[in-house]
Amino acid sequence: MIGELNDMKNGFFELIKRIRYYNDAIAVLNWDLNTGAPRKGVFQRAEVIGMLSAEAFKLSTSDEMGDYLTYFDETDVSSKLDAITKATVRECRKEYDKYKKIPEKMYKEYVILTSEAESLWKDAKKDNDFELFKPYLESIVDYNLQFIELWGYKGNKYNTLLDLYEPGMTVEKLDAIFSELRSRIVPLVAKIKESVYQPEDQFLNQYFDIKKQEEFGLYILDRMGYDFDAGRLDETEHPFTTGINPGDVRVTTHYYPNDLMSSVMSSMHEGGHALYEQNISPDLYGTPLCDGTSMGLHESQSRFWENIIGRSRSFWQKYYGNLQTLFPEQLKDISSEDFYKAINKVEPSLIRIEADEVTYNLHIMIRYEIEKALINGEIRVADLPKVWNEKMKEYLGAVPPNNTKGVLQDVHWSGGSFGYFPSYTLGNIYSAQIYNTVRKEINDFDEIIKRGELTKIKDWLTEKIYKHGKLLEPAEIIMQVTGEEINPGYLVDYLENKYKDIYKL
Ligand code: ZN
Repeated sequence: MIGELNDMKNGFFELIKRIRYYNDAIAVLNWDLNTGAPRKGVFQRAEVIGMLSAEAFKLSTSDEMGDYLTYFDETDVSSKLDAITKATVRECRKEYDKYKKIPEKMYKEYVILTSEAESLWKDAKKDNDFELFKPYLESIVDYNLQFIELWGYKGNKYNTLLDLYEPGMTVEKLDAIFSELRSRIVPLVAKIKESVYQPEDQFLNQYFDIKKQEEFGLYILDRMGYDFDAGRLDETEHPFTTGINPGDVRVTTHYYPNDLMSSVMSSMHEGGHALYEQNISPDLYGTPLCDGTSMGLHESQSRFWENIIGRSRSFWQKYYGNLQTLFPEQLKDISSEDFYKAINKVEPSLIRIEADEVTYNLHIMIRYEIEKALINGEIRVADLPKVWNEKMKEYLGAVPPNNTKGVLQDVHWSGGSFGYFPSYTLGNIYSAQIYNTVRKEINDFDEIIKRGELTKIKDWLTEKIYKHGKLLEPAEIIMQVTGEEINPGYLVDYLENKYKDIYKL
Protein backbone atom coordinates (compact mmCIF):
# COMPACT_ATOMS: atom_id res chain seq x y z
CA MET A 1 0.00 0.00 0.00
CA ILE A 2 2.70 2.50 1.02
CA GLY A 3 4.83 1.44 -1.96
CA GLU A 4 1.87 1.95 -4.27
CA LEU A 5 1.05 5.30 -2.72
CA ASN A 6 4.62 6.48 -3.23
CA ASP A 7 4.65 5.36 -6.85
CA MET A 8 1.39 7.14 -7.48
CA LYS A 9 2.67 10.30 -5.79
CA ASN A 10 5.84 10.27 -7.87
CA GLY A 11 3.87 9.81 -11.09
CA PHE A 12 1.41 12.54 -10.10
CA PHE A 13 4.13 15.08 -9.34
CA GLU A 14 5.95 14.13 -12.54
CA LEU A 15 2.77 14.94 -14.49
CA ILE A 16 2.43 18.21 -12.61
CA LYS A 17 6.01 19.09 -13.44
CA ARG A 18 5.30 18.63 -17.14
CA ILE A 19 2.30 20.98 -16.90
CA ARG A 20 4.35 23.43 -14.87
CA TYR A 21 7.14 23.57 -17.43
CA TYR A 22 4.72 24.38 -20.22
CA ASN A 23 3.30 27.15 -18.06
CA ASP A 24 6.76 28.49 -17.21
CA ALA A 25 7.61 28.67 -20.91
CA ILE A 26 4.29 30.39 -21.67
CA ALA A 27 4.96 32.94 -18.91
CA VAL A 28 8.39 33.85 -20.31
CA LEU A 29 7.00 34.11 -23.85
CA ASN A 30 4.15 36.31 -22.67
CA TRP A 31 6.50 38.53 -20.70
CA ASP A 32 8.70 38.93 -23.75
CA LEU A 33 5.68 39.65 -25.94
CA ASN A 34 4.66 42.44 -23.57
CA THR A 35 8.05 43.98 -22.89
CA GLY A 36 9.66 44.39 -26.28
CA ALA A 37 9.28 41.52 -28.72
CA PRO A 38 9.61 42.88 -32.28
CA ARG A 39 6.21 43.72 -33.73
CA LYS A 40 6.72 41.53 -36.78
CA GLY A 41 7.18 38.45 -34.61
CA VAL A 42 3.91 38.84 -32.73
CA PHE A 43 1.72 36.69 -34.94
CA GLN A 44 4.06 33.70 -34.91
CA ARG A 45 4.55 34.12 -31.18
CA ALA A 46 0.81 34.06 -30.53
CA GLU A 47 0.64 30.72 -32.38
CA VAL A 48 3.42 29.26 -30.24
CA ILE A 49 1.74 30.37 -27.03
CA GLY A 50 -1.57 28.96 -28.25
CA MET A 51 0.00 25.58 -29.00
CA LEU A 52 1.81 25.34 -25.66
CA SER A 53 -1.34 26.34 -23.77
CA ALA A 54 -3.31 23.64 -25.55
CA GLU A 55 -0.69 21.05 -24.50
CA ALA A 56 -0.79 22.16 -20.87
CA PHE A 57 -4.58 22.14 -20.98
CA LYS A 58 -4.63 18.61 -22.39
CA LEU A 59 -2.40 17.37 -19.59
CA SER A 60 -4.43 18.99 -16.78
CA THR A 61 -7.65 17.47 -18.13
CA SER A 62 -6.13 14.14 -19.27
CA ASP A 63 -7.39 10.69 -18.28
CA GLU A 64 -4.02 10.26 -16.57
CA MET A 65 -4.81 13.25 -14.34
CA GLY A 66 -8.37 11.97 -13.82
CA ASP A 67 -7.03 8.56 -12.68
CA TYR A 68 -4.61 10.12 -10.19
CA LEU A 69 -7.31 12.33 -8.73
CA THR A 70 -9.74 9.41 -8.38
CA TYR A 71 -7.05 7.40 -6.63
CA PHE A 72 -6.06 10.17 -4.19
CA ASP A 73 -9.68 11.01 -3.43
CA GLU A 74 -10.37 7.51 -2.07
CA THR A 75 -10.92 7.88 1.66
CA ASP A 76 -8.25 5.46 2.83
CA VAL A 77 -5.67 7.07 0.51
CA SER A 78 -6.75 10.64 1.17
CA SER A 79 -6.32 10.19 4.93
CA LYS A 80 -2.67 9.18 4.44
CA LEU A 81 -1.64 12.19 2.34
CA ASP A 82 0.70 14.89 3.64
CA ALA A 83 -0.57 18.49 3.65
CA ILE A 84 1.22 19.50 0.45
CA THR A 85 -0.01 16.54 -1.60
CA LYS A 86 -3.52 16.98 -0.23
CA ALA A 87 -3.67 20.65 -1.19
CA THR A 88 -2.10 19.88 -4.58
CA VAL A 89 -4.84 17.30 -5.23
CA ARG A 90 -7.44 19.91 -4.21
CA GLU A 91 -6.07 22.47 -6.68
CA CYS A 92 -5.73 19.97 -9.55
CA ARG A 93 -9.24 18.70 -8.87
CA LYS A 94 -10.61 22.25 -9.18
CA GLU A 95 -8.93 22.76 -12.55
CA TYR A 96 -9.91 19.33 -13.78
CA ASP A 97 -13.59 19.68 -12.86
CA LYS A 98 -13.79 23.22 -14.14
CA TYR A 99 -12.79 22.17 -17.64
CA LYS A 100 -14.14 18.61 -17.74
CA LYS A 101 -17.67 19.74 -17.03
CA ILE A 102 -17.72 21.94 -20.12
CA PRO A 103 -18.06 20.17 -23.49
CA GLU A 104 -14.88 20.65 -25.51
CA LYS A 105 -16.68 22.24 -28.45
CA MET A 106 -18.35 24.78 -26.21
CA TYR A 107 -15.08 25.66 -24.51
CA LYS A 108 -13.34 26.26 -27.84
CA GLU A 109 -16.19 28.48 -29.06
CA TYR A 110 -15.90 30.49 -25.87
CA VAL A 111 -12.13 30.96 -26.21
CA ILE A 112 -12.62 32.27 -29.76
CA LEU A 113 -15.54 34.47 -28.70
CA THR A 114 -13.60 36.13 -25.88
CA SER A 115 -10.48 36.71 -27.94
CA GLU A 116 -12.58 38.37 -30.66
CA ALA A 117 -14.50 40.32 -28.04
CA GLU A 118 -11.29 41.67 -26.52
CA SER A 119 -10.13 43.17 -29.76
CA LEU A 120 -13.62 44.42 -30.57
CA TRP A 121 -13.92 46.02 -27.16
CA LYS A 122 -10.81 48.08 -27.92
CA ASP A 123 -12.52 49.51 -31.03
CA ALA A 124 -15.80 50.01 -29.20
CA LYS A 125 -14.03 51.88 -26.42
CA LYS A 126 -12.01 54.00 -28.83
CA ASP A 127 -15.11 54.92 -30.88
CA ASN A 128 -17.54 55.21 -27.96
CA ASP A 129 -19.68 52.53 -29.61
CA PHE A 130 -21.47 50.35 -27.07
CA GLU A 131 -23.74 48.87 -29.75
CA LEU A 132 -20.70 47.31 -31.42
CA PHE A 133 -19.69 45.51 -28.23
CA LYS A 134 -23.22 44.66 -27.05
CA PRO A 135 -23.89 41.41 -29.00
CA TYR A 136 -20.51 40.02 -27.90
CA LEU A 137 -21.12 40.87 -24.29
CA GLU A 138 -24.57 39.29 -24.50
CA SER A 139 -23.00 36.06 -25.78
CA ILE A 140 -20.33 36.11 -23.06
CA VAL A 141 -22.94 36.52 -20.33
CA ASP A 142 -24.95 33.73 -21.91
CA TYR A 143 -21.99 31.36 -21.94
CA ASN A 144 -21.23 32.18 -18.32
CA LEU A 145 -24.82 31.33 -17.40
CA GLN A 146 -24.42 27.98 -19.14
CA PHE A 147 -21.11 27.36 -17.35
CA ILE A 148 -22.76 28.06 -14.01
CA GLU A 149 -25.43 25.43 -14.80
CA LEU A 150 -22.71 22.92 -15.74
CA TRP A 151 -20.47 23.69 -12.76
CA GLY A 152 -23.39 23.90 -10.35
CA TYR A 153 -24.04 26.56 -7.72
CA LYS A 154 -25.00 26.97 -4.09
CA GLY A 155 -27.37 29.82 -3.24
CA ASN A 156 -26.79 32.66 -5.67
CA LYS A 157 -25.63 31.82 -9.22
CA TYR A 158 -22.95 34.51 -9.01
CA ASN A 159 -21.27 32.58 -6.15
CA THR A 160 -19.85 30.13 -8.66
CA LEU A 161 -18.06 32.94 -10.50
CA LEU A 162 -16.81 34.57 -7.30
CA ASP A 163 -15.35 31.26 -6.20
CA LEU A 164 -13.10 31.15 -9.28
CA TYR A 165 -11.12 34.12 -7.98
CA GLU A 166 -11.77 34.12 -4.24
CA PRO A 167 -12.47 30.61 -2.97
CA GLY A 168 -15.24 30.66 -0.38
CA MET A 169 -16.52 34.16 -1.17
CA THR A 170 -20.31 34.51 -1.56
CA VAL A 171 -22.91 37.11 -2.48
CA GLU A 172 -24.23 36.96 1.06
CA LYS A 173 -20.85 38.00 2.50
CA LEU A 174 -20.15 40.57 -0.21
CA ASP A 175 -23.56 42.21 0.16
CA ALA A 176 -22.84 42.77 3.84
CA ILE A 177 -19.33 44.02 3.08
CA PHE A 178 -20.42 46.50 0.43
CA SER A 179 -23.33 47.69 2.50
CA GLU A 180 -20.91 48.67 5.30
CA LEU A 181 -18.57 50.32 2.82
CA ARG A 182 -21.43 52.22 1.18
CA SER A 183 -22.85 53.50 4.44
CA ARG A 184 -19.53 54.89 5.65
CA ILE A 185 -17.57 55.79 2.52
CA VAL A 186 -20.28 57.72 0.63
CA PRO A 187 -20.67 60.25 3.51
CA LEU A 188 -16.88 60.45 3.93
CA VAL A 189 -16.48 61.38 0.27
CA ALA A 190 -19.19 64.03 0.64
CA LYS A 191 -17.42 65.59 3.66
CA ILE A 192 -14.08 65.59 1.87
CA LYS A 193 -15.68 67.34 -1.10
CA GLU A 194 -17.10 70.06 1.16
CA SER A 195 -13.92 70.59 3.14
CA VAL A 196 -12.45 74.09 2.88
CA TYR A 197 -9.00 72.53 2.91
CA GLN A 198 -8.01 70.93 -0.41
CA PRO A 199 -4.41 69.79 -0.99
CA GLU A 200 -2.44 71.47 -3.75
CA ASP A 201 -1.09 68.82 -6.13
CA GLN A 202 -0.30 70.70 -9.34
CA PHE A 203 3.44 70.39 -8.73
CA LEU A 204 3.23 66.62 -9.34
CA ASN A 205 2.55 67.33 -13.00
CA GLN A 206 5.74 69.19 -13.84
CA TYR A 207 8.39 67.63 -16.05
CA PHE A 208 10.20 64.76 -14.28
CA ASP A 209 13.03 63.08 -16.14
CA ILE A 210 12.08 59.42 -16.58
CA LYS A 211 15.62 58.11 -16.06
CA LYS A 212 15.52 59.65 -12.60
CA GLN A 213 12.03 58.23 -12.00
CA GLU A 214 13.47 54.85 -12.84
CA GLU A 215 16.37 55.36 -10.46
CA PHE A 216 13.97 56.15 -7.64
CA GLY A 217 11.71 53.18 -8.44
CA LEU A 218 14.68 50.79 -8.41
CA TYR A 219 15.86 52.24 -5.11
CA ILE A 220 12.47 51.82 -3.41
CA LEU A 221 12.02 48.26 -4.71
CA ASP A 222 15.42 47.44 -3.26
CA ARG A 223 14.50 49.00 0.10
CA MET A 224 11.28 46.93 0.17
CA GLY A 225 13.38 43.80 -0.07
CA TYR A 226 12.57 42.96 -3.69
CA ASP A 227 15.34 40.58 -4.78
CA PHE A 228 16.88 41.76 -8.04
CA ASP A 229 18.75 38.47 -8.35
CA ALA A 230 15.29 36.92 -8.64
CA GLY A 231 13.66 39.57 -10.79
CA ARG A 232 13.94 42.71 -12.87
CA LEU A 233 12.10 45.94 -13.63
CA ASP A 234 11.07 46.92 -17.17
CA GLU A 235 8.72 49.42 -18.75
CA THR A 236 5.40 48.48 -20.37
CA GLU A 237 2.24 50.35 -21.32
CA HIS A 238 0.29 48.68 -18.49
CA PRO A 239 2.29 47.64 -15.42
CA PHE A 240 2.17 43.97 -14.41
CA THR A 241 3.99 41.22 -12.50
CA THR A 242 4.98 37.87 -13.98
CA GLY A 243 5.89 35.16 -11.50
CA ILE A 244 7.63 32.43 -13.46
CA ASN A 245 8.96 30.78 -10.32
CA PRO A 246 10.07 32.30 -6.98
CA GLY A 247 13.57 32.74 -8.43
CA ASP A 248 12.23 34.74 -11.37
CA VAL A 249 9.51 37.25 -10.57
CA ARG A 250 9.52 40.21 -12.95
CA VAL A 251 7.77 43.54 -12.55
CA THR A 252 7.02 46.38 -14.92
CA THR A 253 5.98 50.00 -14.59
CA HIS A 254 5.17 52.90 -16.86
CA TYR A 255 6.90 56.30 -16.80
CA TYR A 256 5.05 59.51 -17.62
CA PRO A 257 7.28 62.58 -17.86
CA ASN A 258 4.47 64.76 -16.48
CA ASP A 259 3.21 62.50 -13.73
CA LEU A 260 5.75 61.67 -11.05
CA MET A 261 3.61 59.46 -8.84
CA SER A 262 2.27 57.10 -11.48
CA SER A 263 5.54 55.17 -11.84
CA VAL A 264 6.43 55.35 -8.14
CA MET A 265 3.07 53.94 -7.06
CA SER A 266 2.88 51.29 -9.75
CA SER A 267 6.41 50.11 -8.92
CA MET A 268 5.41 49.70 -5.29
CA HIS A 269 2.14 48.04 -6.28
CA GLU A 270 3.78 45.47 -8.56
CA GLY A 271 6.61 45.17 -6.03
CA GLY A 272 4.04 44.04 -3.45
CA HIS A 273 2.74 41.35 -5.81
CA ALA A 274 6.34 40.30 -6.44
CA LEU A 275 7.37 40.09 -2.78
CA TYR A 276 4.52 37.63 -2.27
CA GLU A 277 5.74 35.38 -5.10
CA GLN A 278 9.46 35.65 -4.34
CA ASN A 279 8.92 34.52 -0.76
CA ILE A 280 6.83 31.40 -1.15
CA SER A 281 8.32 28.46 0.77
CA PRO A 282 10.75 26.30 -1.26
CA ASP A 283 8.69 23.23 -0.19
CA LEU A 284 6.02 24.37 -2.62
CA TYR A 285 8.22 25.02 -5.67
CA GLY A 286 7.01 23.23 -8.75
CA THR A 287 3.53 22.52 -7.37
CA PRO A 288 0.32 24.43 -8.16
CA LEU A 289 0.56 25.74 -4.57
CA CYS A 290 3.47 27.96 -5.55
CA ASP A 291 1.25 30.98 -6.13
CA GLY A 292 -0.77 33.55 -4.21
CA THR A 293 -3.76 31.94 -2.53
CA SER A 294 -6.39 34.13 -4.21
CA MET A 295 -6.74 37.23 -6.34
CA GLY A 296 -7.97 39.14 -3.29
CA LEU A 297 -5.04 38.20 -1.09
CA HIS A 298 -2.58 38.89 -3.88
CA GLU A 299 -4.13 42.30 -4.34
CA SER A 300 -3.97 42.88 -0.59
CA GLN A 301 -0.19 42.72 -0.81
CA SER A 302 0.15 45.08 -3.76
CA ARG A 303 -2.14 47.54 -2.02
CA PHE A 304 -0.47 47.14 1.36
CA TRP A 305 2.83 48.28 -0.16
CA GLU A 306 1.34 50.86 -2.49
CA ASN A 307 -1.23 52.48 -0.21
CA ILE A 308 -0.67 51.63 3.41
CA ILE A 309 3.11 52.00 3.24
CA GLY A 310 3.63 54.03 0.06
CA ARG A 311 1.01 56.68 0.82
CA SER A 312 1.85 57.01 4.50
CA ARG A 313 3.31 60.03 6.24
CA SER A 314 6.10 57.97 7.85
CA PHE A 315 7.27 56.57 4.53
CA TRP A 316 7.70 60.02 3.00
CA GLN A 317 9.31 61.40 6.14
CA LYS A 318 12.06 58.92 5.32
CA TYR A 319 12.19 58.96 1.52
CA TYR A 320 11.03 62.41 0.42
CA GLY A 321 14.59 63.70 0.81
CA ASN A 322 15.79 61.18 -1.79
CA LEU A 323 13.13 62.37 -4.20
CA GLN A 324 14.03 66.01 -3.59
CA THR A 325 17.68 65.25 -4.31
CA LEU A 326 16.70 63.75 -7.66
CA PHE A 327 14.34 66.60 -8.53
CA PRO A 328 15.69 69.66 -6.69
CA GLU A 329 14.16 72.24 -9.04
CA GLN A 330 10.67 70.75 -9.14
CA LEU A 331 10.37 70.01 -5.42
CA LYS A 332 12.42 72.74 -3.77
CA ASP A 333 9.44 74.63 -2.32
CA ILE A 334 7.43 71.57 -1.31
CA SER A 335 7.67 70.18 2.22
CA SER A 336 7.35 66.49 2.98
CA GLU A 337 4.01 67.19 4.66
CA ASP A 338 2.65 69.03 1.60
CA PHE A 339 3.87 66.19 -0.57
CA TYR A 340 2.12 63.62 1.63
CA LYS A 341 -1.15 65.51 1.36
CA ALA A 342 -0.83 66.00 -2.39
CA ILE A 343 -0.37 62.31 -3.12
CA ASN A 344 -3.45 61.55 -1.03
CA LYS A 345 -5.79 64.01 -2.71
CA VAL A 346 -9.30 62.63 -3.01
CA GLU A 347 -11.23 63.45 -6.13
CA PRO A 348 -14.25 61.52 -7.37
CA SER A 349 -13.33 60.61 -10.91
CA LEU A 350 -14.87 58.70 -13.78
CA ILE A 351 -12.07 56.20 -14.27
CA ARG A 352 -11.46 53.34 -11.83
CA ILE A 353 -7.74 52.97 -12.40
CA GLU A 354 -7.18 56.66 -11.68
CA ALA A 355 -9.23 56.62 -8.48
CA ASP A 356 -7.84 57.48 -5.05
CA GLU A 357 -7.96 55.14 -2.04
CA VAL A 358 -11.30 56.47 -0.76
CA THR A 359 -13.40 56.45 -3.91
CA TYR A 360 -11.81 53.34 -5.45
CA ASN A 361 -14.10 50.90 -3.69
CA LEU A 362 -17.19 52.73 -4.91
CA HIS A 363 -16.08 52.01 -8.48
CA ILE A 364 -15.83 48.33 -7.59
CA MET A 365 -19.20 48.37 -5.86
CA ILE A 366 -20.84 49.59 -9.08
CA ARG A 367 -19.28 46.72 -11.05
CA TYR A 368 -20.23 44.18 -8.41
CA GLU A 369 -23.86 45.27 -8.33
CA ILE A 370 -24.05 45.22 -12.13
CA GLU A 371 -22.47 41.76 -12.49
CA LYS A 372 -24.68 40.27 -9.80
CA ALA A 373 -27.81 41.68 -11.43
CA LEU A 374 -26.73 40.53 -14.92
CA ILE A 375 -26.01 36.98 -13.81
CA ASN A 376 -29.32 36.80 -11.97
CA GLY A 377 -31.28 38.11 -14.96
CA GLU A 378 -32.37 41.28 -13.17
CA ILE A 379 -30.92 43.57 -15.83
CA ARG A 380 -29.96 43.02 -19.46
CA VAL A 381 -26.74 43.90 -21.28
CA ALA A 382 -28.69 46.54 -23.21
CA ASP A 383 -29.43 48.33 -19.91
CA LEU A 384 -25.77 48.64 -18.90
CA PRO A 385 -24.95 52.19 -20.05
CA LYS A 386 -28.02 53.55 -18.29
CA VAL A 387 -27.51 51.54 -15.09
CA TRP A 388 -23.81 52.43 -15.04
CA ASN A 389 -24.47 56.16 -15.25
CA GLU A 390 -27.20 56.07 -12.61
CA LYS A 391 -24.92 54.31 -10.16
CA MET A 392 -22.01 56.66 -10.90
CA LYS A 393 -24.28 59.57 -10.12
CA GLU A 394 -25.57 58.00 -6.93
CA TYR A 395 -22.24 56.87 -5.43
CA LEU A 396 -19.69 59.26 -6.90
CA GLY A 397 -21.75 62.25 -7.95
CA ALA A 398 -20.19 62.18 -11.41
CA VAL A 399 -21.79 61.09 -14.68
CA PRO A 400 -19.60 60.03 -17.62
CA PRO A 401 -20.04 62.15 -20.74
CA ASN A 402 -19.81 59.02 -22.91
CA ASN A 403 -19.52 55.22 -22.68
CA THR A 404 -15.77 55.31 -23.34
CA LYS A 405 -15.34 56.92 -19.94
CA GLY A 406 -18.20 54.86 -18.53
CA VAL A 407 -19.30 51.30 -19.06
CA LEU A 408 -16.65 50.57 -21.72
CA GLN A 409 -13.60 51.57 -19.66
CA ASP A 410 -12.48 48.16 -18.33
CA VAL A 411 -11.16 45.18 -20.29
CA HIS A 412 -12.46 42.51 -17.85
CA TRP A 413 -15.91 41.75 -19.29
CA SER A 414 -14.60 41.34 -22.82
CA GLY A 415 -12.42 38.47 -21.57
CA GLY A 416 -15.32 36.93 -19.65
CA SER A 417 -13.84 37.72 -16.22
CA PHE A 418 -17.10 38.04 -14.31
CA GLY A 419 -16.53 37.72 -10.57
CA TYR A 420 -13.05 39.24 -10.72
CA PHE A 421 -13.75 42.87 -9.77
CA PRO A 422 -14.61 42.23 -6.10
CA SER A 423 -11.02 40.94 -5.63
CA TYR A 424 -9.78 44.53 -5.75
CA THR A 425 -11.94 45.63 -2.85
CA LEU A 426 -11.29 42.42 -0.94
CA GLY A 427 -7.60 43.25 -1.38
CA ASN A 428 -8.13 46.68 0.19
CA ILE A 429 -10.10 45.18 3.07
CA TYR A 430 -7.54 42.47 3.77
CA SER A 431 -4.69 44.96 3.60
CA ALA A 432 -6.28 47.22 6.24
CA GLN A 433 -7.14 44.25 8.43
CA ILE A 434 -3.56 42.97 8.19
CA TYR A 435 -2.30 46.49 8.92
CA ASN A 436 -4.34 46.54 12.12
CA THR A 437 -2.64 43.30 13.21
CA VAL A 438 0.91 44.16 12.16
CA ARG A 439 0.76 47.41 14.14
CA LYS A 440 0.00 45.41 17.27
CA GLU A 441 2.64 42.77 16.64
CA ILE A 442 5.45 45.09 15.58
CA ASN A 443 4.89 47.78 18.19
CA ASP A 444 7.09 50.53 16.75
CA PHE A 445 5.67 50.04 13.25
CA ASP A 446 5.69 53.74 12.26
CA GLU A 447 9.21 54.19 13.60
CA ILE A 448 10.39 51.22 11.56
CA ILE A 449 9.03 52.84 8.41
CA LYS A 450 10.58 56.18 9.38
CA ARG A 451 13.93 54.44 9.75
CA GLY A 452 13.47 52.75 6.38
CA GLU A 453 13.63 49.24 7.83
CA LEU A 454 11.04 48.00 5.39
CA THR A 455 12.46 44.51 5.18
CA LYS A 456 11.33 43.92 8.77
CA ILE A 457 7.78 44.33 7.50
CA LYS A 458 8.51 42.11 4.51
CA ASP A 459 9.85 39.42 6.86
CA TRP A 460 6.71 39.59 8.99
CA LEU A 461 4.49 39.26 5.91
CA THR A 462 6.61 36.36 4.65
CA GLU A 463 6.17 34.48 7.89
CA LYS A 464 2.43 35.17 8.11
CA ILE A 465 1.34 35.09 4.47
CA TYR A 466 3.87 34.77 1.66
CA LYS A 467 5.52 31.49 2.57
CA HIS A 468 2.21 29.59 2.64
CA GLY A 469 1.51 30.14 -1.05
CA LYS A 470 -1.74 28.36 -1.88
CA LEU A 471 -1.33 25.76 0.86
CA LEU A 472 -3.90 27.64 2.91
CA GLU A 473 -7.11 29.15 1.52
CA PRO A 474 -7.67 32.93 1.85
CA ALA A 475 -10.18 32.67 4.71
CA GLU A 476 -7.78 30.43 6.67
CA ILE A 477 -4.91 32.87 6.21
CA ILE A 478 -6.94 35.87 7.31
CA MET A 479 -8.20 33.97 10.34
CA GLN A 480 -4.73 32.76 11.20
CA VAL A 481 -3.10 36.18 10.81
CA THR A 482 -5.75 38.48 12.27
CA GLY A 483 -7.76 36.15 14.50
CA GLU A 484 -11.05 36.94 12.81
CA GLU A 485 -12.97 36.60 9.57
CA ILE A 486 -12.82 39.25 6.87
CA ASN A 487 -13.97 42.52 8.44
CA PRO A 488 -14.47 45.66 6.29
CA GLY A 489 -14.58 47.83 9.42
CA TYR A 490 -10.78 48.09 9.51
CA LEU A 491 -10.64 49.54 6.02
CA VAL A 492 -13.21 52.22 6.80
CA ASP A 493 -11.56 53.03 10.14
CA TYR A 494 -8.24 53.41 8.35
CA LEU A 495 -9.75 55.66 5.68
CA GLU A 496 -11.70 57.78 8.17
CA ASN A 497 -8.70 58.33 10.44
CA LYS A 498 -6.32 59.12 7.65
CA TYR A 499 -8.56 61.45 5.66
CA LYS A 500 -10.11 63.25 8.64
CA ASP A 501 -6.57 64.29 9.49
CA ILE A 502 -5.60 65.29 5.93
CA TYR A 503 -8.82 67.18 5.21
CA LYS A 504 -9.16 68.58 8.73
CA LEU A 505 -12.70 67.17 9.06
ZN1 ZN B 1 -2.51 44.41 -8.64
